[in-house]
Amino acid sequence: MSARPIDGKAIAQELRAELAVRVERLREAGVVPGLAVVIVGEDPASRVYVRNKALACESIGMRSEVHALPADSSQERVLSFVRRLNDDPAVHGILVQMPLPKPLDKRAVIEAIAPDKDVDGFHYHNVGALVAGDANFYPCTPWGVMKILEHEAIPVEGAHAVVVGRSDIVGKPMAMLLVNAGATVTVCHSKTRDLGAMTRQGDILVVATGRAGLVTGSMVKPGAVVIDVGVNRLPDGKLAGDVDYASASAVASRITPVPGGVGPMTIAMLLANTVKAAERVAGLAAKMETRIA
Ligand code: NDP
Repeated sequence: MSARPIDGKAIAQELRAELAVRVERLREAGVVPGLAVVIVGEDPASRVYVRNKALACESIGMRSEVHALPADSSQERVLSFVRRLNDDPAVHGILVQMPLPKPLDKRAVIEAIAPDKDVDGFHYHNVGALVAGDANFYPCTPWGVMKILEHEAIPVEGAHAVVVGRSDIVGKPMAMLLVNAGATVTVCHSKTRDLGAMTRQGDILVVATGRAGLVTGSMVKPGAVVIDVGVNRLPDGKLAGDVDYASASAVASRITPVPGGVGPMTIAMLLANTVKAAERVAGLAAKMETRIA
């Protein structure tokens, strides 16, 4: 078997086009969706990510603002900055770029973001809403994976989904979204015994470990759908996923490449969350029932 690749870039483009229409509708109602990105310090990779997010906003008619704070900013300064953005009606989504320089307390900063502007979906309010199966802000990468599955008409209900990785930003929310969608889910991590025996059970196999080429073809169930979230920079400068593409695509039915698979969906879902936040403010979508500020 040779797996049919899933073109995440094309799916993301389609989604962006739909979002551009929703942004236009908001503008007509007098609301310009705005994303505020806060970056603390000079990490070059973070600067590139932040720039890409700002450009993506502009590409669909949204407003973006980037706030660069010095690396030695105090905890209080970062918190009060975030609170100011909470109170700014022109800002519908707030994202604090991670990692934060030491000794800043990442959790305290996330908890300072108003839950109805938490477009990353990392605030405990939104984590709880996800567990409860509530429609709220979902973390962008796992939600992007769900959109890929939906777009490609891959049945989730009743499927056995195996997720490799249990991080707060990918693995755990991924597992929860799949459970909510009716899959039977197995979550694997670095302590899992006999990883291959687990991954070979997956009708859907999602891999998010940050270990290049960890999952090989012999660990994939014949005909499975393989979603590779990993992004790893190899010594030669090329990007590689957590799945060995050549051997896995000989066994799977569908597979996401790296780059061009899950990556483009992550930014698209960030835009989607911000548009959703603005639609709530404009009364064009159901408002969140509770707001914990
Ligand atoms: P983390 O490092 O936070 O988590 C990695 C997870 O993988 C952990 O749960 C860890 O287990 C598990 N793991 C590590 N090694 C193994 C192993 N040998 N066998 C089984 N499980 C293992 O990473 P993230 O979740 O943040 O990111 C994962 C990957 O996804 C990275 O490559 C990252 O760059 C990429 N990524 C891509 C995005 C995109 O937009 N495409 C967005 C976000 C991330 P344990 O908990 O036991 O340590």
